Amino acid sequence: MSRAFIFLILLTLSTLLIGVTTSLIISLFVCISILGLWVIYQSFQQERFLSWLKNSSYKTSPNCYGVWKLIYSSANSLLKKEDLQESKLRNNLLALRRVAEVMEDGILIIDNNNYILAINPRAERYLNIRQEQDSGSNILNHIRNPSFVEYLLRGSLNKTIIIEDLSLDKKALEFKLLPFDASQKIILCRDVTKLRKLEVEKKDFVASASHELKTPLTVIKGYLETVSEIEINEVEKNRMLAEMLLQTKRMDALINDLLLLSKLEKSYPIKNNHQTNISLLMSELSKLSANVDKNQHSINFNVEDNVFVSGAEDNLRSAFWNLINNAIIYTQKGGKIEASCLKSEGGKAVFAVSDNGPGIEAHHIDKLTERFYRVDSAGSWESKGTGLGLSIVNEIVKKYGASLKIESQPNIGSKFSIIFPPINTDV
Ligand code: ADP
Repeated sequence: MSRAFIFLILLTLSTLLIGVTTSLIISLFVCISILGLWVIYQSFQQERFLSWLKNSSYKTSPNCYGVWKLIYSSANSLLKKEDLQESKLRNNLLALRRVAEVMEDGILIIDNNNYILAINPRAERYLNIRQEQDSGSNILNHIRNPSFVEYLLRGSLNKTIIIEDLSLDKKALEFKLLPFDASQKIILCRDVTKLRKLEVEKKDFVASASHELKTPLTVIKGYLETVSEIEINEVEKNRMLAEMLLQTKRMDALINDLLLLSKLEKSYPIKNNHQTNISLLMSELSKLSANVDKNQHSINFNVEDNVFVSGAEDNLRSAFWNLINNAIIYTQKGGKIEASCLKSEGGKAVFAVSDNGPGIEAHHIDKLTERFYRVDSAGSWESKGTGLGLSIVNEIVKKYGASLKIESQPNIGSKFSIIFPPINTDV
């Protein structure tokens, strides 16, 4: 039974009692006064409740009793629940905004008439559009590239388009139009410059590799056809066989270099791997140089004891030998070559090969580590390497966090140095 109902029964009973014991008028007066007070109390409570609702500090409810206590506590828990949901929503929205801000992709929301509604910072940068000043303007006033205009007007949803000459820095941007809702669309844009460059490099690489393999193969094929079609004397036959062997060795070297390169490219940069005493490696390479060079040059090895670097021995051997062998190949007979391996400041180690050979012109230097790059000097293709040696050295150097330094002056000589970082002892 509710308190209000009890109150009404008590009021009726006490009015009847007063009516019976005194007069009807007094009892009526008492009754009306009590009812009046009750109405005033209720409207006061109503007013208080309304202003409490409007007040932001509703979390603490005023002191009251009965049904009003119940009303306050129910309203309080309802409002708290709503508040919690609102703050959750606000947090989610903030998180979403932060995600949109840090996303690698540019995001642009446009309406069905191509007017900009929202744009994230990445898209602002890519497209040179500003959220504050440009939202509400038509995207086609900002991007006038004909391919983009056609793409957007055609409304090619979920299809992509790559545009290369949109920005001043010639970035390649890929756009994708996505449906959002009935009145809005999303344009995703991302920078695919590196990817495009890689694709071009891959195509160039395949073309160069095929060309490099095709050349010796053509020579071998020519000789084989000659041998099978015409009578030739023993001397000529031996000359042809020797030439075929040379070309086969060339193909073999090329394939080995290609395999090594692809293996090196696949492996991740390694920081704290096996340590190698390169001073010991140098004595091995000194013997090999003497065997290969056959006293054509004056080769000097300047090696400090116990120089350790991070790196696998076979990789380091390959890198060092490439540089020493290049010096032997490209330096004229009688020239001087020095290979050194020394400790340097701050725990670094330096391996270097210098020669007084023909040297290299400055404009070639940056390209020397590109695949198949050879300095165009007379006869270089015929007798010398595959054009992959320095790319292999560069990959090995990158793998161990070292750096390759090339110094060269035409007619004076060249110096190739590998600078190794200090060995990390916290392994
Ligand atoms: P290759 O296998 O043709 O030697 P590399 O990548 O090792 O290819 O070298 C690239 C080019 O750099 C060579 O073709 C050569 O022209 C030049 N080069 C490398 N080392 C030397 C050097 N010590 N002196 C002069 N030129 C060099």
